Amino acid sequence: MKKYIFILLTTFLIILILLYFYDRRETVLNKKYLIKDSIYIEYPYFHNNTIDSYITSYLKEYKENSFEKLFIDYDYLEENDKIKLTMYIHSLKNNIIKNKKKSFQIDLINSTIFINKNDFNENIYNNINYKDKQSSDKKIVALTFDDGPNFNTNKVLSILEKYNVKATFFILGCNIKGHEQTIKRMHNLNMEIGNHMYSHNLLSKLNDQEITKEIDMVDKLLYNITNKLPILIRPSYGSINNKRKKIINRPIIIWNNDSLDWKYHNSKKIYNRVIKNIQDGDIILMHDIYRATANSLELIIPELIKKNYQIVTVSELLYYKNIKVLPNKIYNSGK
Ligand code: ZN
Repeated sequence: MKKYIFILLTTFLIILILLYFYDRRETVLNKKYLIKDSIYIEYPYFHNNTIDSYITSYLKEYKENSFEKLFIDYDYLEENDKIKLTMYIHSLKNNIIKNKKKSFQIDLINSTIFINKNDFNENIYNNINYKDKQSSDKKIVALTFDDGPNFNTNKVLSILEKYNVKATFFILGCNIKGHEQTIKRMHNLNMEIGNHMYSHNLLSKLNDQEITKEIDMVDKLLYNITNKLPILIRPSYGSINNKRKKIINRPIIIWNNDSLDWKYHNSKKIYNRVIKNIQDGDIILMHDIYRATANSLELIIPELIKKNYQIVTVSELLYYKNIKVLPNKIYNSGK
């Protein structure tokens, strides 16, 4: 009798162990959760910290930014410790199903992820849902800062933080090293971070491959710090023509209100120049690398607030002005 009980218990135990592993195998490969009624996100789970945290943050961003009904599924191909993961995002808007996909190359050994650039498309730019929609009686402007970061950028960030103002920073790739913490702070303060290419060369002096390479380098450096790819591009010196425009597969942001801070180095003069012609929808050009620029903000921001302006990021400005944001297109202002 004892023998039978023993056999029965052992069999039961083996079944339990098998069930545990079978179940575990399922969860390793496939996680699923409900985010809103009938919207599921089904996603792979690799037990690899870099990859799992990337996927989690990617999905979180989607969840937060999306106001459409969406369903995300995935496919993946595994070969020689490399995984090609493709996310398929199906969204339903006005009863029309729009599909887009984003693919990643994941190197399991080195835990590095490369995002396929061809998957950038207009939906990424236009699916942003801003929480605090501005009231219609306010005029809006965007402050933009080029060529940083350097030691002065933190001063600029502190002033923006003090007034609870969001701005857009176009980061110069060759200045990133040594200022990673500043970029992290920028990101945590919800500033918009754009790509100002790597070496501040005139586009006319670079060939097509060099332009793509410069943009890619900055993308990767910023991605490693913020876990996010910059969407907007500002070419060095704001110089762009139709031929070069076709190479830059992103929205290209120039300006219409030039503070000339690089020339003046005088906060009062910078302030006068910006405020003199200020208009609703302006994109203002400044440089976060100069002390006089930071000082001028202490004059400019209170004056703009007094004049009933709301200060927003470039993406917010275009969104509030109902301007469709498209790759390869140049934007000078929100007008
Ligand atoms: Zn510049």
